[in-house]
Amino acid sequence: MLIDSHAHLEMPDFRKDLEEVIRRARESGVEYIFTVGTEKKDWKRAIEIAQSHPFIYAILGVHPHNAKEIDDHTYETLKGLCQNERVRAFGEIGLDFYRNLSPREMQLNRFREQIALARELGLPIVAHDREAHQETLEVLKSEKAEAVGGIIHCFSGDYEMARECMDMGFYISVPGSITYKNAEPFREIVRKLPLEFLLVETDAPFLTPVPFRGKRNEPGYVRYTAEKVAEIKKVSMDKVAEVTTENALRIFKVS
Ligand SMILES: [Zn+2]
Ligand SMILES: [Zn+2]
Repeated sequence: MLIDSHAHLEMPDFRKDLEEVIRRARESGVEYIFTVGTEKKDWKRAIEIAQSHPFIYAILGVHPHNAKEIDDHTYETLKGLCQNERVRAFGEIGLDFYRNLSPREMQLNRFREQIALARELGLPIVAHDREAHQETLEVLKSEKAEAVGGIIHCFSGDYEMARECMDMGFYISVPGSITYKNAEPFREIVRKLPLEFLLVETDAPFLTPVPFRGKRNEPGYVRYTAEKVAEIKKVSMDKVAEVTTENALRIFKVS
């Protein structure tokens, strides 16, 4: 039993064959999938998918790429949608200083505001951090994200950052890129981190693990990421599946 803690099933990439994708995930042992609606046009679709599959839950928020689209109504809309019991976390929110699709200062402000909103809603946060490690830590601290905790998804910081995040009640989510040839520094970090703070994710349709790199990613492939974690940490696949599943169920309050 595995959990894909982060996928984007509402994206157009899955429009044609979503049910097939979900069926394949179940066949490869994926017990739950958490689908992340990152912008206004995706939120309702994420909830619909969650409502029509008892093993799928939704996560809603505004991605840093879309920070510039936030207007006077955005947070009210999100507040309303997050009352739905299928919504189990707030995100993905954060900072992307790699692509900079929204201005940095705006990303910082929207990140702060959305942490406050997550706290108000009592939902754990799913944070996105790309090339903004120091700033991400600073904002999580200054906005007291510790009050709700959450997940640093697609973790790409160093060991010290991981430790600081864990101290604030955050879990570290490992994506498929851990299987890539050039990911040795990341594997070294994961080797040192306690399994009790790790999750696995696909970020499907992105970041497809080996041996399917280059193709569209899908939740069933989370198995390859979990296998790599088992290999790195020299524990059984069953152990990785068991502990990462417990971690995800705890953070998302699924029993
Ligand atoms: Zn992300
Ligand atoms: Zn994502």
